[in-house]
Amino acid sequence: MITDNHPFKVNSAGHLEASGVDLVQLAETYGTPLYVYDVAIIRENCRNFIRTFENLGVRAQVAYASKAFSTIAMLQVMNQEGMSLDVVSQGELYTALQAEFPVNKIHMHGNNKSLEELTMAIDHDIGCIVVDNFHEIELIERILRDKNKTIDVLMRVTPGIESNTHRYIMTGNEDSKFGFNLSNGQADQAFLRLRNNPSIHFKGLHAHIGSQLFETEGMLLTAELLFKKLDCWHTDYGFIPDVLNLGGGFGIRYTKEDEPLPYPEFVKELTSAVKEHASSIGIPMPEIWIEPGRAIAGNAGLTLYTVGSIKEVPGVRNYIAVDGGMTDNLRPALYQATYEGVLANKASATASDTVSVAGKCCESGDMLIWDLPLPDVDENDILAVFSTGAYGYAMANNYNRFPKPAVVFAENGSAQLVVRRETYHDMVKNDISYE
Ligand SMILES: *Cc1c(COP(=O)(O)O)cnc(C)c1O
Repeated sequence: MITDNHPFKVNSAGHLEASGVDLVQLAETYGTPLYVYDVAIIRENCRNFIRTFENLGVRAQVAYASKAFSTIAMLQVMNQEGMSLDVVSQGELYTALQAEFPVNKIHMHGNNKSLEELTMAIDHDIGCIVVDNFHEIELIERILRDKNKTIDVLMRVTPGIESNTHRYIMTGNEDSKFGFNLSNGQADQAFLRLRNNPSIHFKGLHAHIGSQLFETEGMLLTAELLFKKLDCWHTDYGFIPDVLNLGGGFGIRYTKEDEPLPYPEFVKELTSAVKEHASSIGIPMPEIWIEPGRAIAGNAGLTLYTVGSIKEVPGVRNYIAVDGGMTDNLRPALYQATYEGVLANKASATASDTVSVAGKCCESGDMLIWDLPLPDVDENDILAVFSTGAYGYAMANNYNRFPKPAVVFAENGSAQLVVRRETYHDMVKNDISYE
């Protein structure tokens, strides 16, 4: 059901709409499965973070984690909104360059950056590389020496906190593929090496503890541990960080069980904790960087499907099958992600039955939603699945040789195609016949 505070509304025809665009008509025009983003919601999500820092008078960068949904149109909107950008690969950096994103606001992540990726980043003078391990330091040193260049870096550390979605576990022995260990001397060793290289401008620390966080506890604990280390480096070496990057992971609402803390509250608590820590160790307040991905794109996007076969298993469950599934949204199959949805063409009708939404891939695990209350479902109804904007299209794949869906942006009553639907020709274009 569409409640009053739902991000999407119902129009007078009883159809679901996005930014004033009728979604049933969109499905007809562009076909299904179709990703649709309400661009006004994307913008509002960005402003919610940026405005809060501005109102607090705190220097900050809000970097969109582009792995959540990286396309040229999306990165253009991020630039319009004054966001910075995280990339984790050469492909994401290439997309950012194609979107003409300002290079000085691009940060590069990754636990196994290749020589080629680092070279591309340094050649383009991106804003910052978040250094993850000693092998990477060696590669960066080599490139800088060969090219006689300099670069800003942050150091990614593992603070030894695991977020278990709702709970935080302190782990003595940090078991993570990401970053330098904060307590066993690795971070100190990396610090000295980065500091002693005049071509490397070491700006500060980075930590990212997990995703879909609903409260500040984990990030506050992280900040405390980072400042403990910064206190040592300040005392021993007079180091003053320019930047403290606390990562992303701000949670969103997928179903009624999810109650994320409003982002302005999140930012206020983080900021005041950082302020307190900085003053207690006697250093100026560093610039705060955060990296929301899901929180920017997630609730702004939805997926439209056409209902095909409807199968009743008496006494067990009713299945409705749609024309997409784990190829356009891998999250339910990958980690039991849950979603809510409505029939876009019957958006004001009340639910009368509970159905299970099946994808069309040849996998029993290809189920999009297990128990969804819906009005009477008919063949060719249009199902809208909400909050698919992050890690949806980004994880789309060609299993069963299904083409990747199209993506449409809706804003101010009009819609524009921003990613074309894949064709069967696209699908075989890299295949070479065997003679
Ligand atoms: C994935 C990731 C993010 C974004 O996470 P969200 O949950 O989408 O906000 C931010 N920073 C780093 C380093 C990441 O790996």
